[in-house]
Amino acid sequence: MSVIGHWINGETLTPDGRTQAVFNPATGESNTQVALASTVTVQAAIAAAEAAFPAWRDTPPARRARIMFRFKELLEQNAPRICELIGQEHGKISHDAAGELQRGIENVEYACGAPELLKGEHSRNVGPNIDSWSEFQPLGVVAGVTPFNFPVMVPLWMLPMAIVCGNCFVLKPSERDPSSTLYIAQLLHEAGLPAGVLNVVNGDKEAVDALLFDPRVQAISFVGSTPIAEYIYRTATSQGKRCQALGGAKNHAIVMPDADLDNAVNSLLGASFGSSGERCMALSVAVAVGDAVADALIGKLTEAMQGLKFGVHTDASNDFGPLITAAHRDKVVGFIDSAEAQGARIVVDGRHARVAGHEDGFFVGATLIDAVTSSMDSYKAEIFGPVLQVIRVATMDEAMKLINDHEYGNGTCIYTRDGEAARYFSDRIQVGMVGINVPLPVPVASHSFGGWKRSLFGDLHAYGPDGVRFYTRRKTITQRWPSANVREGAEFSMPTLK
Ligand code: NAD
Repeated sequence: MSVIGHWINGETLTPDGRTQAVFNPATGESNTQVALASTVTVQAAIAAAEAAFPAWRDTPPARRARIMFRFKELLEQNAPRICELIGQEHGKISHDAAGELQRGIENVEYACGAPELLKGEHSRNVGPNIDSWSEFQPLGVVAGVTPFNFPVMVPLWMLPMAIVCGNCFVLKPSERDPSSTLYIAQLLHEAGLPAGVLNVVNGDKEAVDALLFDPRVQAISFVGSTPIAEYIYRTATSQGKRCQALGGAKNHAIVMPDADLDNAVNSLLGASFGSSGERCMALSVAVAVGDAVADALIGKLTEAMQGLKFGVHTDASNDFGPLITAAHRDKVVGFIDSAEAQGARIVVDGRHARVAGHEDGFFVGATLIDAVTSSMDSYKAEIFGPVLQVIRVATMDEAMKLINDHEYGNGTCIYTRDGEAARYFSDRIQVGMVGINVPLPVPVASHSFGGWKRSLFGDLHAYGPDGVRFYTRRKTITQRWPSANVREGAEFSMPTLK
């Protein structure tokens, strides 16, 4: 059985100890193991990054950007291979994997603007013959820890920006689907990145803790579930590191009485069941304003859901694939069971759905649940599966209170034709990313991505302008060249502009 190793100092490193099975979630089979790095292996990766840093920090931003231009080309040329690797280990259907890759490439394109992004700020004559400027310097060795659900896109939220800013990177991808991440790291090397600037260590908690407690690591970007995000943020900051830790979500869509219901239903289908609901921006709760809207919505959704198709990643006619592991499938089914036991009504039941020829795959069919209340476990938790729950409320304010009271604040959406209502909603809702008739308001690469409340620990969002801030340290220089003919006296009061 083959073992997926690490990528350290421009070379594949053979595993040094513990391993874990990687599954094809559509078949339930495992033919591959992934190495779980020891602390010593992680330290070797950090040492390689540290050694590469002095030359990389002095490499002109335009030269760093040229590597990103080549990287973008290589990602595009190798898209079929990348999508196949995503599909084999994640189960994501080929068209969805292509979308993930494209959103990742857009971050590479943004990073190609490094010379512009790193220009800094300059003020002439802040005092007599005194000029002042601020420049953005790299931090040094920085690390990233990423989740299973976007094995290519989320690493690309981090790597291109950290690297063009002049940092050296150690990435710890998800141990559940590491191959596509490892492959794009090797493409970046092929694009001309010097050895040691990017290192990939596969592993679990031991590898993450080695990054958290190593004083050479200056900053950590994390994306994953909220309990781990909170642990990473607390530990990293207690170690004096800069940290951004993006966590889980519960994304609500409000359906107003004036909404274009047919379009809302179509967009809810994709946003709730696409990628099997394993997206941190997946819409998992529809809040219907008024019983008439709820009844009509459920009627139309039930009918439309009959046409949904799920199965293996290679069949592009499928709408979504399996869940990531058997344990996760059981957890999702457990939430549907608990909703039923606590009084909700299962309208469309995906618990017993099977794919012919793939009976051992980790599949759950699209599920629709009505009469959900805010006290139910299935409402409070992030399910992360193809499950859409409907809550009935009487007013828009009631719907907004529900969203604002929830512990998560990643994404949300309102379906309406009323501009005033939409503006009121986007202004007052306690959520970081808001869609108005847009179900998955994932910001484009020139904006930044981040939730509110327990969906993000830290001050700066991911990628875009916040990415530049996160991966650089500001230095402000004030300069004067005194004339040789002028003798200056000692000044004891605070210097001011008189
Ligand atoms: P996860 O938290 O289980 O794992 C994320 C990473 O943390 C992995 O690399 C994993 O190896 C590591 N990890 C796991 N347990 C750890 C521990 N005890 N100590 C240290 N490190 C540990 O998340 P996941 O299941 O891979 O991904 C799904 C979750 O990620 C969902 O909650 C989803 O909402 C969230 N997510 C959030 C965003 C966002 O932008 N907010 C984006 C994608 C996914």
